[in-house]
Amino acid sequence: MPQPAIAGEGSFLAHLRTASPNACFQCNRCTAGCPLAPAMDLTPAQVVHYLLLGDWEPALQSQSIWACVHCETCTARCPQQVDVSKLFHLARAVAWRSGRVAPDQAIATYFASFIENLYIYGRAAELPLTVICKLKSEDYLRDFTLGLRLISRGRLNFLNIPRGAARYRRLYERVRQQEAQTA
Ligand code: SF4
Ligand code: SF4
Repeated sequence: MPQPAIAGEGSFLAHLRTASPNACFQCNRCTAGCPLAPAMDLTPAQVVHYLLLGDWEPALQSQSIWACVHCETCTARCPQQVDVSKLFHLARAVAWRSGRVAPDQAIATYFASFIENLYIYGRAAELPLTVICKLKSEDYLRDFTLGLRLISRGRLNFLNIPRGAARYRRLYERVRQQEAQTA
């Protein structure tokens, strides 16, 4: 498999091997089971194929790696034990770190807000995530009625603000320092 043409992402190759893309024989069972396939421009099997060939750019530029919700259906369905979900996760991490964003602006904004939220609270906090996302997108009414429905059914809990945020930020800073030392 060729080396990645992505500065500072040498470890991507090692992680990639642990997900066994080389075992893929393109049966498309992953694609058939993926609930997000209709929202993707490359099917899960195509993403695996590009990564296995070392031709990463089409995968890194695709909408697919951002549309994936990591439900792991693809991984569970694969007869070759290819960890398709992990491959999507790796591709998205590399794309993000190398400055690529989702082609769909709404997904790009949500993902940036989600990462910011994780950095502040250590995990998803619904109220701050919603506020950050709305401020970034400046689209304050989008999904408003959907949000009301979710609140009325108890699926959104805006009062649940995670504790221990400072601890998470120290942890992230330590990881960043370690990454900078090994880069
Ligand atoms: S299910 Fe597994 S073997 Fe089949 S196409 Fe997907 S990754 Fe390849
Ligand atoms: S993990 Fe991602 S690619 Fe796999 S089935 Fe779920 S949404 Fe689709």
